[in-house]
Amino acid sequence: MTLTVQHNVSLQPFNTLRVEAKAREWVEVRSQEDCAQLPALCRDKKILILGGGSNLVLAGDVNGLVIHNQLRGIECVRQDEQHVWVQVAGGENWDAFVAHAVAQGWHGLENLSAIPGSVGAAPVQNIGAYGVELKDVLESVTVLHLQDGRTQILTRAECRFAYRDSIFKSAFKTNYLITHVTLRLQRQPTMKLEYGEIRSALQSAGLDEATLTPQQLRELIMDIRARKLPDPAVQPNVGSFFKNPVIPHEQLMRLQQRWPELVSYPVDADHVKIAAGWLLDRLGWKGRQWGRAKVHDRQALVLVNSGDNARDLLALKDAMQADVREKTGIELEVEPLIVGGHE
Ligand SMILES: Cc1cc2nc3c(=O)[nH]c(=O)nc-3n(C[C@H](O)[C@H](O)[C@H](O)COP(=O)(O)OP(=O)(O)OC[C@H]3O[C@@H](n4cnc5c(N)ncnc54)[C@H](O)[C@@H]3O)c2cc1C
Repeated sequence: MTLTVQHNVSLQPFNTLRVEAKAREWVEVRSQEDCAQLPALCRDKKILILGGGSNLVLAGDVNGLVIHNQLRGIECVRQDEQHVWVQVAGGENWDAFVAHAVAQGWHGLENLSAIPGSVGAAPVQNIGAYGVELKDVLESVTVLHLQDGRTQILTRAECRFAYRDSIFKSAFKTNYLITHVTLRLQRQPTMKLEYGEIRSALQSAGLDEATLTPQQLRELIMDIRARKLPDPAVQPNVGSFFKNPVIPHEQLMRLQQRWPELVSYPVDADHVKIAAGWLLDRLGWKGRQWGRAKVHDRQALVLVNSGDNARDLLALKDAMQADVREKTGIELEVEPLIVGGHE
């Protein structure tokens, strides 16, 4: 069947900030047969690949072709005594896949429960939560080159994963559709419980580490997240708006003269990571309203949108970055992709 291109499609149902913007062209990709037709459609066009729209800020209409990834399928491709290798199509919902994996006895993803979005977007920013990142379980990523139709398999090393970063944000940023992700999961659970919030949640739930099941860990993570983060269906948001800054030791020492309680996490011999949310909270941003945008009351890293465009939200982002720059010398980096309008 020939792929149908639609024109002037509203993107409002497809982004968790509920911004109203139009895609000049829109196509849904559901099969390998659809994928084979993409290069002819993509030639000389500006492309936006869309999964669940949960890490995207639409600054205006998208004057190009939006490819909505709806590829489906989960296949166990290999196993040995300790591991199982699972290939998942990029259009699968991430959390539905995590639930499936836990039910099948495939382990390693429990801490990544309840992250919104698609499997295909997960490698883009190397999703992470509660001490686990996608790179810890990823074997390879299959991409389709949208200009020439070639398929390529990238190993974990070739994906150049780092904190909320990968090759899909630089050299492979546009014109590459992630069609499949292959994960190497464990057949015996080894649970990662080091994160402070997990330990205290375990205690308050009266759960014993020694007998904790992967399903219980998944539910614990889902509870922590539900308490902490606003539900995008109720308060439109994209999760953390800024990355946690990585700064040199000398800068940390200067900041600790002002805030001795500032906590840092080692990155390498010269750098540490600090919590952007903590910093924004100290600078008084939590709960601040900015037109139809707002900093969330419980989490200063999350910006909530109540308008049907992103203007106030982006102005709020600029004001927060300028304030942090002026008061600390730190350049806060935005986590979601800002796209559309005059870019
Ligand atoms: C409430 C909330 C909580 C969140 N918590 C976390 C968290 O704990 N940890 C975390 O890491 N993230 C978190 N996020 C961010 C988000 O869920 C992830 O980044 C997720 O992977 C985005 O998936 P998506 O399908 O919605 O991507 P989209 O928003 O559709 O796209 C994001 C980027 O990936 C690209 N992309 C999408 N699919 C493909 C593909 N198949 N091939 C190539 N490029 C593609 C897009 O072009 C875009 O650049 C949270 C978001 C929300 C709203």
